[in-house]
Amino acid sequence: MFRKIKNIIDEGERFLITTHIDPDGDAIGSCFSLYWVLDALQKNPFVYMRDKVPYMYEFLPKPPKLSYHEPPADSYDAIFVLDCGNFLRVGKGHERLKAQGPLVNIDHHTTNETFGIVNIIEQDSSSTAEILYKLYRSLNIPFTYNVAVNLYTAIFTDTGSFRYPNTNSDAFLICEEMTKFGVSPSYVAQMVHENHPKERFFLLGKVLSSMETYKNDTIAMALVTQEMFHKTNTSKEYTEGFVEYVKEIRGINVAILIREITDQQYKVSMRSKGNTDVALICNHFGGGGHRNAAGCTIDGNIMQVKDRLKEAFAIL
Ligand code: 5GP
Ligand code: MN
Repeated sequence: MFRKIKNIIDEGERFLITTHIDPDGDAIGSCFSLYWVLDALQKNPFVYMRDKVPYMYEFLPKPPKLSYHEPPADSYDAIFVLDCGNFLRVGKGHERLKAQGPLVNIDHHTTNETFGIVNIIEQDSSSTAEILYKLYRSLNIPFTYNVAVNLYTAIFTDTGSFRYPNTNSDAFLICEEMTKFGVSPSYVAQMVHENHPKERFFLLGKVLSSMETYKNDTIAMALVTQEMFHKTNTSKEYTEGFVEYVKEIRGINVAILIREITDQQYKVSMRSKGNTDVALICNHFGGGGHRNAAGCTIDGNIMQVKDRLKEAFAIL
């Protein structure tokens, strides 16, 4: 399965590693782990991500060669696009990257658009990091702490701390193995879950107060506005995990967090329990993701966005 990638790595020298905008733990851990693997192979890797690493992932061993905002202009022997179902989600400047090297697409999203020259899409994998672990094993690469803690954190966060239905036996086996390379589960859990600035909770209070429920309390929507960010001196990185709180309510099947980008554009995050496929709903709005965790961007004012969402759920 990894033969083509092995050849690309063996024959190449300069590699770009990238992922999606608003990077989460899997996006970051996957990119950083691949950086450390290629670095150990004495290649010349570089990581680019549109948005900066959110504060809760700052403890991860970071590549010295990492840039944000604008893709580098150089050309590469391959460009690894990790955890990214849709090439557009690499963010501004993604189009010109296509001309800077062959795209290697490694992902686990059901909605992946197979935009690479090589596409490794494993929908049953808990995370992109799980696929990468298997790649590293097949390349016979020795694992270091820098690789291990990035893989561990990616799997830990993409499985919702081993709570989501994508928590499979390989997720546990890989994470258990990573502890042998020095990863401390309690340290990672503390960094991810117990290291928030107090402002996050002032924001959370406002967001939870905005919550409305629909369809006999089976769907809940909460809203984050630019005004809430201003009042609490926070930004979008403080909202990671907010949608999970909404999902904790008894009887809720779909939790939705609507975040204002501008008063005419909103980012929507959805989580579901059981069989409700939110990737399908988000796909309808041009987004995507997984059955139980997906997202999209919807244009319109807040009333229009809520109405369009309610309409989409009315047919479920
Ligand atoms: P989140 O709600 O945490 O932003 O994203 C949940 C899942 O859906 C993640 O796997 C993420 O990559 C995916 N996702 C979020 N927004 C979009 C989007 O606009 N387009 C696509 N294709 N996937 C998305
Ligand atoms: Mn992922």
